Amino acid sequence: MGIQRILIANRGEIALRIHRAAQEMGIETVAVHSTADADAMHVRMADHAVCIGPPPAGESYLNIANIISAAEVSHADAIHPGYGFLSENAKFAEIVEAHDIAWIGPKPEHIRTMGDKVEAKRTAGKLGLPLVPGSDGAVSDYDEAKRIAAEIGYPVIIKAASGGGGRGMKVCNSEDQIETLMKQAGSEAKAAFGDATVYIEKYLGNPRHIEFQVFGDGRGNAVHLGERDCSLQRRHQKVLEEAPSPVITPEERDRMGGIVSKAMSDMGYRGAGTIEFLWENGEFYFIEMNTRLQVEHPVTEMITGIDLVREQIRIAEGRDLSVTQDEITFTGHAIECRINAEDPWTFAPSPGTVTYYHAAGGMHVRVDSGLYAGYRIPPYYDSMIAKLIVYGRNRERCLMRLRRALGEMVVEGVKTNIPLHEELIEQPDVQSGDYSIKWLEEWLATRG
Ligand code: ADP
Repeated sequence: MGIQRILIANRGEIALRIHRAAQEMGIETVAVHSTADADAMHVRMADHAVCIGPPPAGESYLNIANIISAAEVSHADAIHPGYGFLSENAKFAEIVEAHDIAWIGPKPEHIRTMGDKVEAKRTAGKLGLPLVPGSDGAVSDYDEAKRIAAEIGYPVIIKAASGGGGRGMKVCNSEDQIETLMKQAGSEAKAAFGDATVYIEKYLGNPRHIEFQVFGDGRGNAVHLGERDCSLQRRHQKVLEEAPSPVITPEERDRMGGIVSKAMSDMGYRGAGTIEFLWENGEFYFIEMNTRLQVEHPVTEMITGIDLVREQIRIAEGRDLSVTQDEITFTGHAIECRINAEDPWTFAPSPGTVTYYHAAGGMHVRVDSGLYAGYRIPPYYDSMIAKLIVYGRNRERCLMRLRRALGEMVVEGVKTNIPLHEELIEQPDVQSGDYSIKWLEEWLATRG
């Protein structure tokens, strides 16, 4: 039997995104919220709402017991975790399934494997994905670390096995820094993720970040939906994403897409996933896999016409993928700007009351956001308040439309990074698509 009522274990724009897909499928939704989010748009739009705790995420959006209770009292028969919060928590997925509630996500064992980057790399290697050269697993011994680093050549990057959000990474340029940086990375990882395990890999000089969207039915069928280019980053956090990548040819997409979808099919992967690579001099190097919907998923939706949340829900119902690989086509170009409530140049967060809000509109313009005039942006959560996604028949037209749409967006009362996006898309390197993961920070530094 199909899903009747989905509890959305998230907040903000992604909670709305999930609600919209559910509503179009005739499925009811239950919003959960902290006391700080009582008047948030996702709570207003959902069919039912349950308060799950005080503002700190640890006591609300990460509070497994309260979320499960909310599902029980509201008679939800499925949970969608969105991204962040509990979306990649294998234990939560298991608890949900143990309560006979459908988990709209991958199999718990796959979440667990891919959540440990050392295990993920090992699994990816076995599945035939190209890896960044580095240690064969976790490293704790300093002499062993020095031997491995000498073998792959400096600079190397020390990474936390349980890292995420760009944290727990240290670039190391020479042997005499190894011990200090391993200790630092380990203790930062311990503090942030409760696990001090680190591993080492080659630090690539000037790569692009290119990731493939995949989908599996959990029974050995899998497809890919092409790539996204997320190279424009600050502090390893994505700022603007596009699909397709300006540097990937249709032949390369088919070849690499074939490799990743075969890997997912061999794994018996279920649901949506993203396989992230660094790309340099025409070569792909696997860095990690995210076992959830990504913030930047709309750019893929724009160029394929496929509703990824609807697909996730279908798969959780045990249905087949709605499309075969042959039926998936890539048309035009899409770009997403992450709009944050922050100072555009110092990046200091800017929570507060939105006094006026006007969303961009018009042909091929999509705004995913829970903003409204009078909304108080709480200081407790992520600063992303909206995503502006624009489509064009080709990259050039997409950029022209994006310029027009950014000009229409008005958010008053708080600072936003809209001015940064407006300046960013005027840069010749961005217009020509000639940028790497280092580009944005270098540009910000020279801009003064
Ligand atoms: P997280 O899970 O914290 O996001 P990732 O492994 O996905 O960590 O890496 C995030 C970003 O860090 C990448 O997009 C890239 O910018 C940078 N990075 C990671 N590994 C390397 C590497 N080996 N060489 C150069 N840059 C890297």
